[in-house]
Amino acid sequence: MTLAGLRIDVDTLRGTRIGVPNLIDLLARYHVRASFFFAVGPDNMGRHLWRLVRPTFLIKMLRTRAASLYGWDILKRGTLVPGPVIGKRYPGPIREAAEAGHEVGLHAWDHHHWQARVERMDQHAVTGQIQKGYDLLTDILGRSPNCAAAPAWRVTPEALQALDQFPFRFLSDCRGQSMFRPVVDGRQLSHVQIPTTLPTYDELIGLECTAETYNDHLLEMIQPEILNVLTIHAEAEGISCLPLFRDFLDKARQRDIAFKPLGDILSQTQKIGTSIIQQSTVAGRDGWIACQGEISEQFNSTGNSANDE
Ligand SMILES: [Zn+2]
Repeated sequence: MTLAGLRIDVDTLRGTRIGVPNLIDLLARYHVRASFFFAVGPDNMGRHLWRLVRPTFLIKMLRTRAASLYGWDILKRGTLVPGPVIGKRYPGPIREAAEAGHEVGLHAWDHHHWQARVERMDQHAVTGQIQKGYDLLTDILGRSPNCAAAPAWRVTPEALQALDQFPFRFLSDCRGQSMFRPVVDGRQLSHVQIPTTLPTYDELIGLECTAETYNDHLLEMIQPEILNVLTIHAEAEGISCLPLFRDFLDKARQRDIAFKPLGDILSQTQKIGTSIIQQSTVAGRDGWIACQGEISEQFNSTGNSANDE
């Protein structure tokens, strides 16, 4: 049997309301437990959309009165009025994920704010964002979340130091190949990083794969004896790509691949190294992401050196 961590990022109100219940149902049918990471603050993802709107496109929209066709709602969300607070509007699916036995962690307070500005935030500002999300998620779950995953795989040294102050069991903030504790300014931080090792749907589709070849291509990358961590999105695999993801789970079962929450994978891991985290890019994704750097030393999970073989 090949183990793979399954991480589900939930970025928006729509993903929470529609994608999460869909995925809870689907995963129950396959007896799969996963890790859900929720953005619980304002849904300002409309701002992200604005950045994609070029002036020429906007002029055309006004000319054709596109708003009367499509509605202003999506563009207005988080632009003219503050976005709705996801965890207050739809706490139900978040609780249901936990009640169904999935691991539930914090993705963000304001996903868009973090994604666009984390590079310019000091440790105090980052701590404020995490604290707000942590407090609301604690209210929703009736207990504090024990893990977190930074939006868009973006962390800075300041963000890592802020995250280190919270009592998380592990973090999943970057891309990489193995579990490690990050070293920032020469100091080893306390929380283990469980990086995403596999590409996401939007990084492969239309580039390396079509919808027909996608599942086989991805499954081929999941191998025994290495860390496999797949990240899917409630907005994609939970809604528009749901049939594709169902086929993925079928094919994974045929290949004897077992998906687990990230915390379960951590429990079964003996050796945890240390690495730096550096900015990098990946094909198919705009802008920078945080990546595991060179692995410098092997430690076992208690933090004692186990570099004796
Ligand atoms: Zn996200």
